[in-house]
Amino acid sequence: MQDSDLNAAHPPNLCRNCGTELAAALLACPACHTLVHAERLKELAAAAEQAATPTESLVLWREAHELLPDGSRQQQAIAVKIDELVRLADGPKKEKSKSPAGKVAAGAGAFVVFLAKFKFIIIFLLTKLKLLVLGLTKMGTLLSMLVSFSLYWSIWGWKFAAGFILSIYVHEMGHVAMLNRLGIKASAPMFIPGLGAMVRLKQHLPTAREDARVGLAGPIWGLGAAVVSWLLGIGFNLPLFFAIAKVGAWINLFNLAPVWQLDGSRAFRALNRGQRGMAMGSVAAAFLLSAADVHGVLVIIFLLGLYRLFEKPTEPTGDTRTLIEYVILVAAHSALASLPDVGR
Ligand SMILES: [Zn+2]
Ligand SMILES: [Zn+2]
Repeated sequence: MQDSDLNAAHPPNLCRNCGTELAAALLACPACHTLVHAERLKELAAAAEQAATPTESLVLWREAHELLPDGSRQQQAIAVKIDELVRLADGPKKEKSKSPAGKVAAGAGAFVVFLAKFKFIIIFLLTKLKLLVLGLTKMGTLLSMLVSFSLYWSIWGWKFAAGFILSIYVHEMGHVAMLNRLGIKASAPMFIPGLGAMVRLKQHLPTAREDARVGLAGPIWGLGAAVVSWLLGIGFNLPLFFAIAKVGAWINLFNLAPVWQLDGSRAFRALNRGQRGMAMGSVAAAFLLSAADVHGVLVIIFLLGLYRLFEKPTEPTGDTRTLIEYVILVAAHSALASLPDVGR
């Protein structure tokens, strides 16, 4: 190797089994396939089996997942464990059933889980206030939020700007809450003036199901924010809150588009072809039932969904809960975004 001089300063990393020199990024010895991080992996596995909660266990298995070569048998086994723990960490245990009655029961169960979660979101102002406030202690989040706020303020005035920023913030904290629960490392939310906000994942998500959970948590919390705003509008007869609910719902709906890294794309990763078809059916139904303000974004979602319909799905089994959540979110956000236009 010509660059051996450059590496001379560092002691070479040698395979513990056969003595082959190992490049820094290698996870397994190219000669004898011994795992470079075998010791750490053993520790992680032992700690993960002892962990008190699924979330703690997930943090450890995710670290192990990253220390194994991509596509290796051990890594695949850990991905299966992660998938099982994701089910445990987010939602009740579900029995696998192949009978149609069982499927209906599973679907109804998912719907109940969603409603239970929704009730939980309505009172999130009380219970999740800590997380929402803690999120603001992150300097990057706060600064980027203020920059966005000043831009929106200059366009719409401070009251509407504040409500708008707050609904985007709640949406992002939905992602953060789910990432925390599933033990996934991620950045604090960053606001992008004029575009919205995002949370950057620091770990690759091994399974489609967890991708969908994380993706849809944003629009679910966003729905909570829009409903709260709508209720405030009714309660205090303030048109401003109707306007915030309407725009917030529109933004959430846009995020359900199955493209790029948008939330809808994460959800689609867990849907099989038939389920994608059903999701598109719900978008078509929403188009027929909603106000003209929403038609443009629904047409865009529908066309992107059609494209995804012809792509080969990565999860042939699909995920019923993701489909049900997606359909409810399309319906609810379309309805709220259809609120009559009122002055700000
Ligand atoms: Zn070796
Ligand atoms: Zn989102």
